Amino acid sequence: MSDADFRLDGRRAVVTGAARGIGRAIAERLARAGAEVLVADRDEAEGAATAKAIAGAGGKAAFIALDVTDPEGVAQVVETIYRQHGAVDILVNNAGIVRNAPAAEMSLDDWKSVIDIDLGGVFLCAQAFGRRMVADGRGAMVNISSMCGEIVVQPQPQASYNAAKAGVNLLTKSLAVEWAKSGVRVNAVAPGYIGTELTLRGRSNAEWFETWMRMTPMGRLGDPGEIANAVLFLAADASSYITGTVLAVDGGYTAL
Ligand code: NDP
Repeated sequence: MSDADFRLDGRRAVVTGAARGIGRAIAERLARAGAEVLVADRDEAEGAATAKAIAGAGGKAAFIALDVTDPEGVAQVVETIYRQHGAVDILVNNAGIVRNAPAAEMSLDDWKSVIDIDLGGVFLCAQAFGRRMVADGRGAMVNISSMCGEIVVQPQPQASYNAAKAGVNLLTKSLAVEWAKSGVRVNAVAPGYIGTELTLRGRSNAEWFETWMRMTPMGRLGDPGEIANAVLFLAADASSYITGTVLAVDGGYTAL
């Protein structure tokens, strides 16, 4: 055990949905810890700008276009990365969306898009990169779940999101157990409310926001960087005996 256990020098990391928000903070954090980071997002303009900003700050980063719901696209991206860059040591499945609608009125399209991105996308990427990691005998995967994978938050209705994130938690544990002996660790981080575009609607709604803060013991939003620090821990050798865990980073919300 040494201080190097918290470093990622010489490691290659892929972060999905890294153009902005939590994914961007994760990409920046892993790069500062020494990793070469591939910023993977369906938003090409913002994704490329993020990779450029990380490189401008002295990190190693490149952008790669990726829609996590497209099986052929995911397979192609894996192929391109392994050919042009080399083996991937760390995968962070971060891309996600939310749709707020009462269950009785939710459109099938809304249901499908949330399940496809938030749960299906995690599976597709985990499977495609995981196969390679298992063959290489090493790797760390971190899935960005949510406290909503464990509890139902209020007042906003979001059954599709809650169901998808609960799925991510058990998918994380399933992969962790299947791959435990192969040297590949799989963990999840479950954030509480974080100040990103995803929470813009709730942050601009006085009733929602008052409830959110009242239900959060620490009484404040989290910063994307506070999620990134937890991801760094789970991606680094510092967590070498941890697999199949869902780490809450929620200001105490799920402790209530
Ligand atoms: P943002 O909306 O700020 O960023 C999400 C990023 O993911 C965007 O760049 C988005 O691109 C991208 N993305 C969406 N769909 C896809 C796709 N199919 N393929 C590739 N990229 C995609 O969200 P956050 O940063 O807040 O959220 C990141 C993760 O954290 C999500 O999984 C979310 O569920 C989780 N989380 C967030 C919380 C919060 O309070 N913010 C709380 C708990 C969990 P585009 O612009 O094209 O949509």
